[in-house]
Amino acid sequence: MNKSDFKILSEQVYGKRLVYLDNAATTQKPEVVIQAIEEAYHSWNANIHRGVHHLSQVATEKHEQARQKMADYIGATSSKEIVFTKGTTDSLNMLARCFENLKIDGQNYLGAGDEIWLSEVEHHSNIVPWQMVCERRGCKIRVFKLGEVPTLSEQAKVVSVAYVSNVLGEQNDIEKIAREAKKWNIPVIVDAAQAVAHRTVDVQSLGCDFLAFSGHKMYGPTGIGVLWGKEQWLDILPPAEGGGEMIEHVSWEKTTYNTLPYKFEAGTPNFVGSYALGVAADYIRNIGMEKIAKYEEELCCYAEQKLRKIEGVKVYGEGLKHGVISFNAYNANGKLIHPYDIGTLLDRQGVAVRTGHHCAEPLIDSLGVPGTVRISFALYNDQEDIDIAMAALRRALTMLG
Ligand code: PMP
Repeated sequence: MNKSDFKILSEQVYGKRLVYLDNAATTQKPEVVIQAIEEAYHSWNANIHRGVHHLSQVATEKHEQARQKMADYIGATSSKEIVFTKGTTDSLNMLARCFENLKIDGQNYLGAGDEIWLSEVEHHSNIVPWQMVCERRGCKIRVFKLGEVPTLSEQAKVVSVAYVSNVLGEQNDIEKIAREAKKWNIPVIVDAAQAVAHRTVDVQSLGCDFLAFSGHKMYGPTGIGVLWGKEQWLDILPPAEGGGEMIEHVSWEKTTYNTLPYKFEAGTPNFVGSYALGVAADYIRNIGMEKIAKYEEELCCYAEQKLRKIEGVKVYGEGLKHGVISFNAYNANGKLIHPYDIGTLLDRQGVAVRTGHHCAEPLIDSLGVPGTVRISFALYNDQEDIDIAMAALRRALTMLG
């Protein structure tokens, strides 16, 4: 679908046609997004907000329009709830720090014995920031199984969970988790990094309180992402960083903070990135998310069926996969062929995949392997890509077997 919008896909790798199946790591960018970045620097680059001059006002308008586009993209009720960040990792770190410093009625929100609930499939960016908070606040991490609803109690203070696993491609049931969390009046944070480019993500129907994602995984540029939060939460959370933009007034004695969402955006924002991300969101919207989701689902099923037919291949996860498949291969003696070797031989045949722990070591450990080979899809992949990849895999396994 729309392959010709992505010039890089006509590149050759080692003299072979590039088959790019590493979209869960980052997607390629359509021409409109690349042109948007160029246009920004060619035509209206100037620092935003507070500028009296024309260019600054144009740049400010573009940045704020992009904020509104991102609010619309995820069904947020107001653009005040859209905080621009560097990406998912930045969004989650910021939130962890905000919760660490949150006080309610003079008391720390997080204290000794309190629980932060994560699912077993989390990316390191949704584990490590919470571990850091736990070290400082004496709280602890509790882990629940993929697809299950955690059994919460009074100690539970935060649930932070991946929507779609970047290793297994399977999803958590956010709506059910959010209903359970609501009973305890605690926030649900959703890592939507692997969801936003592949399905409609609507924060209202999910019922979550925060949503984090990266622009570069949805055809936008690197270095820009979003943290959406419900206004009621953003209002009470303290800012994680200080500096320009995030203040209302500064004196030696006291600083007051800016209104939402600027309170969380210290320093010069990445206004070129936000603009180009807005263009990426338009690009997706113009094709139609439902069409993309259906197309990718068919492609993913096709690939999974093909993979499962290859002797010695083990695909991880029995549930429906959303744009991501992880597998390993075993030789005739039942010995694991190292995923890195498979990835290297696929690369030599022009097929780009990812191997290793995919920044989800606890999950990979639980699978009892050193890593997996991961293929992941985007709207521009097609059955021919899969066929080429499968033929390349068969050749690789013959060589390694
Ligand atoms: N969460 C998930 C589920 C991811 O797949 C990724 C990226 N692999 C991240 C978080 C981190 O995203 P980023 O590196 O863009 O901050």
